[in-house]
Amino acid sequence: MVMEYIPGIPLLRPHVDLDNQGFWEAVKQHKLAFQKCKDCGLLVHRPRPMCPRCNSMEREWVPSTGKGVVYSWVNFVYANAAYPGIKVPYTVVVVEMAEGVRIISNLYDVKPEEVYVGMPVEVVFDDIADDLTLPKFRRREV
Ligand SMILES: [Zn+2]
Repeated sequence: MVMEYIPGIPLLRPHVDLDNQGFWEAVKQHKLAFQKCKDCGLLVHRPRPMCPRCNSMEREWVPSTGKGVVYSWVNFVYANAAYPGIKVPYTVVVVEMAEGVRIISNLYDVKPEEVYVGMPVEVVFDDIADDLTLPKFRRREV
């Protein structure tokens, strides 16, 4: 099941700022990258101006393996409870990446009834508009 967007309804777009622009620039190139503290090495997601462990403001972007497991999820099956621009059903998922950070995304090509905690997944990139690419996750063979 691939998410279907309903024409004529504005897409939900990320708010790109100085803290997360490296993340979205990587996604645009079909790469996943996470913010890393240059002082203590902590990986951080979502991106932020200051390391939550050592308060350093020195940051860099490091490539992700793109692999993780489903940590949690919610299936949207009723249109009145979902974003009107997306056809139901669709799944919002929290993925725990191999690197240890968690990312909120959508599942790609997975039926709602097939999702489970611990399901191996890998990132895919969905070019949903000429100027908008979103990282999503599909089932990964192990
Ligand atoms: Zn740090």
